[in-house]
Amino acid sequence: MALETPLALIEQHRPWSVSKIDTLKQCPYKFKFNYVKKMKIDRPVNKALVIGKAAHAVLQYAVTGRNLDACFEFAIVDCKLTSEEIDELLGYRPAITAFLVKYHSYLKKHDIRESITERQYAIDISGKPVKFFDNDHAFIRGVVDLALFVRQQPHIVVLDHKTGKHREFSHYNAQFDFYRLLLRASHPTITGMVTGIHYVSDASIKTSALTDVADLEPLYNKVMGYMNDIASSIATLEERRTGWWCRFCDYQDGCLNGEEGR
Ligand code: SF4
Repeated sequence: MALETPLALIEQHRPWSVSKIDTLKQCPYKFKFNYVKKMKIDRPVNKALVIGKAAHAVLQYAVTGRNLDACFEFAIVDCKLTSEEIDELLGYRPAITAFLVKYHSYLKKHDIRESITERQYAIDISGKPVKFFDNDHAFIRGVVDLALFVRQQPHIVVLDHKTGKHREFSHYNAQFDFYRLLLRASHPTITGMVTGIHYVSDASIKTSALTDVADLEPLYNKVMGYMNDIASSIATLEERRTGWWCRFCDYQDGCLNGEEGR
C-alpha cells in the first residue's frame, strides 16, 4: 500500500487540523477569510469558549492528582474569568469531581502506566512525527486532551473533553481518525487504540471499540482520503456555502457585503 497523495488545495494550505478541514468543508469562503487572509474580527469573546477553555485547564491539572481547589484557582486566574464566568465554571465542579473518581478507578482497573494531558502532535507529509510548530514540515497536527497508556498491552485510550452539548458519537469520527494517525505516528509500538468523549457537564464517557492501529498507512490514507474528498468538492475558495452556521460566522458582514472583512 502506498500513501495517498494530497490534492493541490490540501498541499497548498497545510498544516491541517480537524477544525481547519471542517471549516473548509462547511464554507470555502469562510476558510479563505480565516486561514488564507487570516482576518481577525473584533467580537465579544464567546463565553462558552472561555468556560470550555477554563474547564480544560482544570482537568489538565486535576488528572495529575493536584488539589482540585488549586486547579480551579489556577484556571480562574489563567483564563481571567469574570465573576459570572467563575460561577459558571464552578457549576462544573460536581461533574468534574465525579469524572475524577471514574478516572482514578479506571487507572487502577486497567493498569495504566502513564497518562498525558494536552499534548501537541504533528506529522509531516510522509507521516513522520515533527514538532508541532514546525510550519515548514508539519502537515497534520492536533492536541490530545488525555491519553492513557496501558501497561500490559501496547494500547492507548484517548479521551477528548467536551463542554458543549451532547452530539451523536459519529460526529467525532474524523477527529478520532486524526487522533489515531497522530498518536500512532508518534508512538509506533502502539497496536490498539480506544477513542472517546468525556462530556464534562455530566461526567459521562462514551468510547469506541478497540481499533487496530498497528499499520500507519491505512490510518494516513483514511485521513488523507477524507481531506481529498472535501477538497475535490471545491472549485474555488470564492464559493459561499450558506446555512445555519452563517449566524455564527465572524465574517458574515464582509461576506454579505461582498467585502473581504474590514
Ligand atoms: S456568512 Fe456563511 S456563506 Fe458567508 S463566509 Fe460565513 S459561513 Fe460562508
